[in-house]
Amino acid sequence: MNSETELLETNKRGADKWVKLICGASNEDIVAIEDLCAIYSAAGVDYIDVAADQSIVKAARNGIKWAKEIFGASPGLMISISDGKDIHFRKATFDPLKCPHNCPRPCEKICPTSAIDFSGIKKNKCYGCGRCISSCPLNLISEYEYNLSQNDLPKILQTINPDAVEIHTEINRIDSFINVANILKTSEIKFEKISVSCGLNQSQQDPKDLSKALWNIYEILVEHNVPLIWQLDGRPMSGDLAPTTGKDTVKLWENIGSDLPPGLIQLAGGTNGKTHEFLKKDNFPDGIAFGSSARQIMKPLLEYANNNNKKLHEYPEKMALAIKKAKILLKPWKIRKFD
Ligand code: SF4
Ligand code: SF4
Repeated sequence: MNSETELLETNKRGADKWVKLICGASNEDIVAIEDLCAIYSAAGVDYIDVAADQSIVKAARNGIKWAKEIFGASPGLMISISDGKDIHFRKATFDPLKCPHNCPRPCEKICPTSAIDFSGIKKNKCYGCGRCISSCPLNLISEYEYNLSQNDLPKILQTINPDAVEIHTEINRIDSFINVANILKTSEIKFEKISVSCGLNQSQQDPKDLSKALWNIYEILVEHNVPLIWQLDGRPMSGDLAPTTGKDTVKLWENIGSDLPPGLIQLAGGTNGKTHEFLKKDNFPDGIAFGSSARQIMKPLLEYANNNNKKLHEYPEKMALAIKKAKILLKPWKIRKFD
């Protein structure tokens, strides 16, 4: 297969092994989101998962449109919502006036999105990874919830009309999940897929409890008659930290992958370019989602464009380099279609 045909194949949606780009449930960095969506659409992701916010969705769709016009690539747009408190839907804050002048500023150094400066935390760049919170020796940094209320969800769904939706949930939150599922149903939107993101949020939770919770959720969602995705969330928002961070989600997959309800299984949470190496060659899940690792490898390029008040796709050579890097991240998953 020549490289052009391979790219076309790679850009097809609904393939056996797919890749999702997670832009972030509370990420509002509009310029970066547009570029990330353009880069990863061109590289062949199947879905792009963004916050349920009109301006974010507009930026994501602009990026997808760019890739469609140039490469014919058109991933589905998924929005992330939650049925309760969830670390994916938070941001950090502190009062910079309380910081001592001689602080070595570990918070600023640890932030993966350069969201922190002397004026505090730039809300639009913070996606709630939480790393700065534990870095402050004076405990000045706190988190706050940044979640769409269930009352606002029906209107947002109608306005955005996404291709797919992901519900973040936890074990033992079934009543709240039922409410969200009902809102999706009454919206009458024809979702291509409904994804459920859940992991082990407390160390005492057993993988079997997660499997049981997902079976309960399956009973609720089965009447929606929509293909389901079970997203096993290993170590949330950590894929840029170390090659090994994907091991938690791989472990979950190996523990309960065969006990999950009908649907497609996707790894997330700590996933990065090394995650496929921890999987057995004959036991790959249906797909994978990349979040912080996908953003991290683009950071220098995005910052270059941002410092010049431009979008990355206004620099064709740098954009080509970004797409090449994205394809390298996707290749172990996409290439499997040609095994
Ligand atoms: S370290 Fe994480 S939580 Fe803190 S400001 Fe940066 S993105 Fe937000
Ligand atoms: S580490 Fe704490 S005290 Fe130091 S600059 Fe950051 S928030 Fe302020």
